[in-house]
Amino acid sequence: MTTIEWTEQTWNPTTGCDRISPGCDNCYALTMAKRLKGMGSAKYQNDGDPRTSGPGFGVAMHEDTLTEPLRWKKPRRVFVNSMSDLFHAKITDEFIAKTFAIMAFTPRHTYQVLTKRHGRMRSLLSNPAFVDTIREQMYAIDAYATLARGGLPTWPLPNVWLGVSVEDQKWADLRIPALRETPAAVRFLSCEPLIGPLCTDLSGINWVIVGGESGPGARPFTPAWASDLIADARVVGAAPFVKQLGSVWARDHHTGGKSVAAHGDTKGADPAYWPADLRVREYPGAP
Ligand code: SF4
Repeated sequence: MTTIEWTEQTWNPTTGCDRISPGCDNCYALTMAKRLKGMGSAKYQNDGDPRTSGPGFGVAMHEDTLTEPLRWKKPRRVFVNSMSDLFHAKITDEFIAKTFAIMAFTPRHTYQVLTKRHGRMRSLLSNPAFVDTIREQMYAIDAYATLARGGLPTWPLPNVWLGVSVEDQKWADLRIPALRETPAAVRFLSCEPLIGPLCTDLSGINWVIVGGESGPGARPFTPAWASDLIADARVVGAAPFVKQLGSVWARDHHTGGKSVAAHGDTKGADPAYWPADLRVREYPGAP
C-alpha cells in the first residue's frame, strides 16, 4: 500500500537512483533507502555513489519483484518505481522490456511510470526493436499465455500512463516536449516538488499533478503556481490534481489561530485548509 494520494499501489522492480536535477535535492526515496538498509531490507543493501546517491540507494534490478502484479487479482492503479527511475542508465534495456512485458500481461491494472530520464524513455519506447524485445520477453516469461493473448497487444500499451517530473521552467522545456514525442496512451506531468512558476504549453498532456515540497529542507511553494497550472490544464482538457501545498506553506499559513502545520498537517496535504479553487483532484478519462 502507499500514502501517495494519486495512486493505490507501488511496485518497485528496480530500486536505487542518482540525483539528476534540482527536483532531486531532497529525494524522499534516497532517505527512505538509507533507513531500509539499516532495517536489513534485502532490496536496499546496495550502496550508490555518495555524490549523487547514498546508502542502500545503489541501482538494483529485482527479478523476484517483477511478477508481483500477476498475483494482484483486483484491478489497481500502480505507481511503477516509487523508489527508483525505470529509465536510469544502469537499468538494462532487457529489464525495462521485462517490466513492460509484465504490464502487458496484466491489463486489469493501470500503471503510472514516472521518470526524469525523458530522453531514454523517448528513444527506447519509440524504437520498434525495443518493442520486439518486449514481445520476446513476454514469450520468455509465459509462452502459452502470450500465444493466448495473440502476442503483444497494441502499442503503446493502453494500460500504461507515462509521465515526466517537472520542477521548474528549465525542466518543463526539456521534458514536456520529449514526453509528447513518446508513444503513450496517457501522458502526465508530476510537477512536484514545484519550485518555480511554469509558463508552458500543455497540449498533448492528459494529467497534471502539482505539489509543493515537504520534509526537511523543503523549498517554498506559491499557491498561485497551482492555480495557473489548473487553468492551463483546463485549456487543453487535461485533468488537474493538486497533491499538497508543501511544508513551507503549511508552516506559514495560519487558520484558527495557528499554522496548518500546528494543526497536524505538516505537508499541507489536507484540501480542507486550501483556497477553494485548489481543491481539485481529477484523473484522466479514457484516452
Ligand atoms: S530521479 Fe527520482 S528517485 Fe531518482 S534521485 Fe531524483 S527524485 Fe530520487
